[in-house]
Amino acid sequence: MYKTSLLDIKTQYKTDFEKGLTTEEVQDRLSKYGRNKLDEQSKHGFIKKFLSQFKDTMIIVLIVAGFISLFVNIKTDGGLFEPILIFALVLLNALIGSIQETRAEKALNTLKSLTSKYAKVIRNGIISEIKSTELVVGDIILIEEGDIIPADARIIKSSHLQVDESSLTGESHPVDKNSKMVDQRATLSERKNMLYNGTIITYGNAKAVVVAIGMDSELGRIAKLLSNNKRVKTPLQQRLSKLGTLLSITALICCIAIFVLGLLTEMPITEIFLNAISLAIASIPESVPAIVTIILALSVERMVRHKAIVKELPAVETLGCTSVICTDKTGTLTLNKMTVSSVYDIKEDLLYTDITNDKAKYILKYASLCTNATKDVGDPTERAIIIASHDKQFIQNNPIYFQLPFDSNRKMMTTIHKTNNGYLVVTKGAFESVQSISIGEFDKSALINNQLASNGIRVLAVAYKHIRKLPDNLTTNTIECDMDMIGLIGIIDPPRAEVKSSINLCRQAGIKVVMITGDNPLTASYIAKEVGIINQDELVVTGEELTKMSQAELLQQLPRISVFARVTPLDKVRIVEAWQSLDKVVAMTGDGVNDAPALKNADIGCAMGVTGSDVAKNSADLILTDDNFETIVHSVKEGRGVYSNIKKVVGFLVGTSYCEVITVFISILLFNICPLISVQLLWINLITDSLPAIALGMGKTDDDVMTLPPRDKNEGIFSKRFGYIVIATCIILAALAILAFYLGYTISGSIEAGSTMTYLVIGIAQLLHSYNLLSAKSITKTFLKNKRLTLFNFISLILLLLVAIIPPVATLFSMTILPWYMYLISLGLASMPLVICEILKALKLYKNI
Ligand code: ATP
Repeated sequence: MYKTSLLDIKTQYKTDFEKGLTTEEVQDRLSKYGRNKLDEQSKHGFIKKFLSQFKDTMIIVLIVAGFISLFVNIKTDGGLFEPILIFALVLLNALIGSIQETRAEKALNTLKSLTSKYAKVIRNGIISEIKSTELVVGDIILIEEGDIIPADARIIKSSHLQVDESSLTGESHPVDKNSKMVDQRATLSERKNMLYNGTIITYGNAKAVVVAIGMDSELGRIAKLLSNNKRVKTPLQQRLSKLGTLLSITALICCIAIFVLGLLTEMPITEIFLNAISLAIASIPESVPAIVTIILALSVERMVRHKAIVKELPAVETLGCTSVICTDKTGTLTLNKMTVSSVYDIKEDLLYTDITNDKAKYILKYASLCTNATKDVGDPTERAIIIASHDKQFIQNNPIYFQLPFDSNRKMMTTIHKTNNGYLVVTKGAFESVQSISIGEFDKSALINNQLASNGIRVLAVAYKHIRKLPDNLTTNTIECDMDMIGLIGIIDPPRAEVKSSINLCRQAGIKVVMITGDNPLTASYIAKEVGIINQDELVVTGEELTKMSQAELLQQLPRISVFARVTPLDKVRIVEAWQSLDKVVAMTGDGVNDAPALKNADIGCAMGVTGSDVAKNSADLILTDDNFETIVHSVKEGRGVYSNIKKVVGFLVGTSYCEVITVFISILLFNICPLISVQLLWINLITDSLPAIALGMGKTDDDVMTLPPRDKNEGIFSKRFGYIVIATCIILAALAILAFYLGYTISGSIEAGSTMTYLVIGIAQLLHSYNLLSAKSITKTFLKNKRLTLFNFISLILLLLVAIIPPVATLFSMTILPWYMYLISLGLASMPLVICEILKALKLYKNI
């Protein structure tokens, strides 16, 4: 298409460069050529997932155990119950595994669809925003700095356009683009009149016609080579898998030791072998990785409902460690509902609060020429000006001939318009910037600027000039000079109501909030005070002051600085790195294309979903679909909650599994008897481990998580008191189980009675123990509030008891019916860990984990 003239393209694609396509044409092309998207890679079906579970070591061990049991039982005429149970467990485990995987995949796919991109198109003569997937060939698109190009397109008209095509051509520097024809043999990177799907606009803007979509685009051709299906393991998952290996090895050593011990006690070799294997299966926390993935994936789903899109699972975890939040002002702390509230006429030295006054309108009218927005679409600052000027005709009569787009380094923009006898140049931007290119003295205007800014008002200065001839080279140096500053426009943007309490919450949670803005320091301080970012003698530092600070000075002052104003996006990178060198985990917001480096460098880059550029969204870890600061804080809370839930799950599973190993080991040493046989162990493992663990993992985030200081990102899962709690759980549960066996065995004289009591004590104590881990609050407060845990525990209890108290089933599981008082004793013993914990909780000696 780069070879074809624009006129031919117009005829070939039957489009209108001014009005675009009509709705009917779009519908027709959509049904003919389909949507603008790349083919999805084929996903594994459920059956495939189910089969892939059989690669899992634990399942293989279980299958081997099943065959051994089958072989032994056939040989000894022992019946088929045990092997059938083991094989049933194999199927059940594989089923649960594949359901968990499907669930996690579904959550991740929802995420993918949520990050869909939008494109600005002209259709039926109207500019509107549509999903990029709905673009068709022949559509006229408008693109600007920060956009990711949604399809292959030929440039119709452009202004200072630069595109980063590194993803396609490998060229790391942005390339200049325009609508001129190029050589017939131009290679991809030389086709300056084309825009390619997936590349990034780094500067300027353009109007272009779509010539190829989806798989027909250049990106589509190489799409097969790009595989983004790689699953990233979160640092926690990596740590957990290491821990899992360690625990598995320890469990295996214990089981081998038990096997050897069993041999010495002359127990039947097959029985002790199966017991050792069952114990290994019961004690290896093989379900931890799956449950952790589910917890992370579910939390991602919850966050989406709370307006935050997490792009990769590790971000959830890092969020929980956030200790500094560096936030933009506009839109994040404020509503981004901009309204012009006052206009200052420099020539007349009059400040108008009635903006319908003729003089005020004159200034607004010129400012409105220097915009790319319409009343409804585009930059909120510009929309506010267009709405206030209320003169559509003036804008239509003076179209933009050329422009130097706004950028947050210059903090101004300039447009050129053709007039009867030359050109009109209009500039609007930050007062200091416009002042520096204008002729005259502006002491009074500076005073007014400060006065407005101190009341939280954003000020834009407006300047213009008429020139006869344009300079040869249209650059900021040749155009933005000798301007005549005519007025200041004051725009209000009130703070969001909910931000104040979120900032308070951050203070409680030991999180430092820093405002980083391109706006005036006075406007910034006003808003910072309003929302509580500054509440005592915290410092406000400008970009200029920051540049002068040495690194040592910056690091020393940093904890006291709450506002950075008039900063450039590059300063943001320095601020993030400075905080990181103080060992802080930094979340940073950003919206522009220049914010991408800071977003990438931050531990959590948060992009604005509404006002953010595609590039910012691409570089971020978290996208705020409502651009709201509160959403960041909510996500941090969620991150903390998730970590705490994962800790509970791991603590529960490790504690309860190891208590079984200890029980068997010590009992063999003490009594030469194995108190729990394979089927009993496997049943307990299945019933009392998985359900409560899942419920603990899915539990609601406790509000208390925001009363603790941020967690160190290198903190291990068993750090602090938590390791002791788990060890204590193991020892106490094992001691009670052994005592139960001893009582059962001595009172009734039968091993089955001893086993039944051990089984009941371990099973019930584990279920009750889940409330110990749930919260630092007493069970009386959490029992009914955590309906899922209580329900899951109830189901587990029923399944646990069915096996022990229905006579024929009990016999199958080598258990027996006990006299009533022995059930009471079992219940008493099983309640001990709960009672101990409740006492500690009442004495406030048990803190949240
Ligand atoms: P944030 O608080 O989100 O960092 P900001 O809008 O204050 O964002 P920038 O967008 O970099 O920061 O704007 C910096 C300054 O540039 C503003 O204070 C304003 O004076 C000026 N400005 C902002 N938008 C425009 C625009 N569209 N045209 C001209 N000048 C602008």
